[in-house]
Amino acid sequence: MGSFIITNSRTCLKHLCPLLRRPLYHQRAPQKNNQPSNHPYCTKGERRPSEFHGTKHRDFTPRDRTSFPKSVFAAGNARRTAEILKRKSGADQDRDQDPDQVSTGSLKGRAAFTAQIPDRALSVSEWRDLKSSSSRPERFELRMMEGMLADTEADISVAKSLLNYVAAENGTLPYELLLKYLALCVSGGHHSEVSDVYDIMKSCFKTLDTGAYSLFVKGLSHTERWREALIILEDIKKVITPSSRNYGDAVTGAVLHGDRETAWRLYGELMDQGLMPNQETWRCLFESGVSQRAHKDELLAILTYMRENQIYPEEKLVRSIKAWFESLPDENWRGKFTSVDPGGVCRSCGTELESIQLTEEEYNQLKHRVMEDVIEGRDVFNKTTPEELESFKSFVQKRPAFDVVIDGLNVANITPKCVKSETLLAVVSALQGLNVLVLGRKHMQQPSRNWNRHDMNQIKQKAHCFFTENISEDDPFLLYAALHSGNHCNFVSRDLMRDHKACLPDSATRRLFFKWQRGHQLVLSNFIPGKKIRFQRTSRYDTIVQSHGKTWHVPYDEDGGERSTYEVPQRWLCLSNDV
Ligand SMILES: [Zn+2]
Repeated sequence: MGSFIITNSRTCLKHLCPLLRRPLYHQRAPQKNNQPSNHPYCTKGERRPSEFHGTKHRDFTPRDRTSFPKSVFAAGNARRTAEILKRKSGADQDRDQDPDQVSTGSLKGRAAFTAQIPDRALSVSEWRDLKSSSSRPERFELRMMEGMLADTEADISVAKSLLNYVAAENGTLPYELLLKYLALCVSGGHHSEVSDVYDIMKSCFKTLDTGAYSLFVKGLSHTERWREALIILEDIKKVITPSSRNYGDAVTGAVLHGDRETAWRLYGELMDQGLMPNQETWRCLFESGVSQRAHKDELLAILTYMRENQIYPEEKLVRSIKAWFESLPDENWRGKFTSVDPGGVCRSCGTELESIQLTEEEYNQLKHRVMEDVIEGRDVFNKTTPEELESFKSFVQKRPAFDVVIDGLNVANITPKCVKSETLLAVVSALQGLNVLVLGRKHMQQPSRNWNRHDMNQIKQKAHCFFTENISEDDPFLLYAALHSGNHCNFVSRDLMRDHKACLPDSATRRLFFKWQRGHQLVLSNFIPGKKIRFQRTSRYDTIVQSHGKTWHVPYDEDGGERSTYEVPQRWLCLSNDV
């Protein structure tokens, strides 16, 4: 991208020039790194009666577990477990002592850099001095702007003075620098500055890149010029499909300025494009509907969409949903934040929630759709050959129905410190007495440090094994084997179909698939190498948005809770309409 001649916009930039105020330098504290790594297969050592202990338990029914409501599937459990394990293993200390760790390294780098950013606006000569004293003068201005962008408390006047300096030195402002400044204005909510930059860029560049357009849609939506954001959206459409974020920002602009019809038209367009709306957009729409009869069906359709796509609202959104229901004229809805007892009964209204078990009819429907559209469809199996697929099918058909299907690679990687084949053997041994299928890759059969020949031979004695080509994907094989075996068959794997959700043909099948997954997934809830292995399965009720006419039950993610993909929320919004 080029740069533009400053004479065009000197008047605009003039009022970007700040006054000098505070002392020159300011040390900033480094940001805290709060991203613990999740370790999804372990949990703290709660006793659970439903565990295998290497015995011949076939029964996975949830009634055994009623006295242990804090399931391994409970939101936040993975994070808590990871922290406990880290403390136990002293990993915290290890990391602090290791200077090569990527996370600590980049943290130090950022801290050193933010320390350079002045905490007040500088004059042209002060910026010049700062640059000449910098150990890295190359791309100095860009790095300064990036530094401010990374700092949530950045002072916009410092950025303005930097632009002023660059303009004075060069007579032009590079596009890249201006774009970073725009990003800073948008993220900081400096609306009038966004408006100024828009005028500057529009007058100097014929077209902008989609990144700039996106920033303007977001920035302008909050101003009186929100309708111009809609024009920009049209410009984006000429190049690419706008993102759901773009649409969401435009919806927000329309709602903020009281134009509900435009908001819903944009939302309809977003849905027609097959985009996944974000929760902020939904929140905006629910809030715009408070005390309104209009658009009731569309708002209820959002709840149905969440149900079909296995989406849980965040706390902010669920509060808006509650407020909207309670505001509906003459409908007398009351909402309560509550939990559900282990038997699946709402603690607030006593309603029994939907069972996690698929009915015979639902199971057959799912099996039929998945077998026909997913397994036979080309998409999923584009990483395998028709020959491999055929040989797998006949392998499955020649054997009695499996009780458990194991994703071998996934399970072998549970504890990074152990030899992989040893972990896999331990899991297979714990399932003795059941008809087990282990899905693996061909490379696992070649003896190596991770794949011990003796372990692999033992695994082959205890379970049926099928080894796919090294490039094949496991999910479809696992699905085929499990569904072919019947409704009793469970599986051990972390996640399924993450990349293949689009292959599920329709929303009803998606809903059934997610339900089947939640009801048939076994998670290793306690694994201490060489000692004990425990499995746990999800609860007896289905954690999903649901309604029975006079009630709605909406599971939601609490603020600050971190949920691993296989975990489900534990908090519910109960809405009832008892007149
Ligand atoms: Zn209830």
